[in-house]
Amino acid sequence: MEIIRTVAELKAKLDDARARGSVGLVPTMGALHAGHLSLIERARKENDTVVVSVFVNPTQFNNPTDLATYPRTEEADAALLEGAGVDYAFIPSVDEVYPEPDTRVFDLGPVAEVMEGAMRPGHFNGVAQVVSKLFRFTEPTRAYFGEKDFQQIAVIRKMAEIEGFKNLEIVDCPIKREADGLALSSRNVRLSAEQRSVAPAIAMTLRASLIKARDMSLAETKQWVIDTINRYPFMQVEYYEIVDALTMQPIAEWSDSERPVGCITVFCGDVRLIDNIKYSL
Ligand code: AMP
Repeated sequence: MEIIRTVAELKAKLDDARARGSVGLVPTMGALHAGHLSLIERARKENDTVVVSVFVNPTQFNNPTDLATYPRTEEADAALLEGAGVDYAFIPSVDEVYPEPDTRVFDLGPVAEVMEGAMRPGHFNGVAQVVSKLFRFTEPTRAYFGEKDFQQIAVIRKMAEIEGFKNLEIVDCPIKREADGLALSSRNVRLSAEQRSVAPAIAMTLRASLIKARDMSLAETKQWVIDTINRYPFMQVEYYEIVDALTMQPIAEWSDSERPVGCITVFCGDVRLIDNIKYSL
């Protein structure tokens, strides 16, 4: 594996790689865990060359404390990537990605206005900025994203449409979980031992809501999930929305969508955890 720090070097290497075959890109912010590795494994199976970017993108953080406390573990990340059979680890500096400030404002439309878009102003514009740059730098055949960030995938698809990235397949990958159900996240390391022990209640409650949903209206199911999670110590639901999987718009009745997805964010102490569940097969 080669560690690459400049855009020029990355482009040169990938021009050669593209001439030989397909290129799979897995964008990450580092602090890598088995969730990231599941995306990388899939990329490895489906592409001749695999590039993983490790870049904590400042423009997608609307909270300076979150950016400052975001875990950074470059050495461990490089070792994991090497072990996963990655060809190129792209680990640029902020100046390399943003030689000048990125002032682009993307018209992402309704998919970016709700949930994370409403709670974290500017977040998705920052995601669109960095992912569009990564797509330009790497021109991948396929790019891999986790369904843990369910809304993000819809936003990236919209960005790709706006920017005309046509010959690029965006691949959704399922959520990887701990044995107790907690969705893997780089932020989990910030949980105290006590918080970590209650955090699986999020996934457990979402799963239990699949059964409740058979008899409850959508509004009742939503409220049941919120109330159940809020009864645990440390836990405060920020939002729970049941949306259509394509439009990301909240629905009022189960019959309003063929693919309803429940998207939740919960503060466990001061750690913001996200998860989601599909109410259809
Ligand atoms: P991040 O480093 O958190 O920005 O995540 C990089 C990519 O890994 C994103 O596409 C995430 O959705 C994905 N990812 C993060 N955690 C998980 C997980 N537990 N399961 C599957 N994908 C994940």
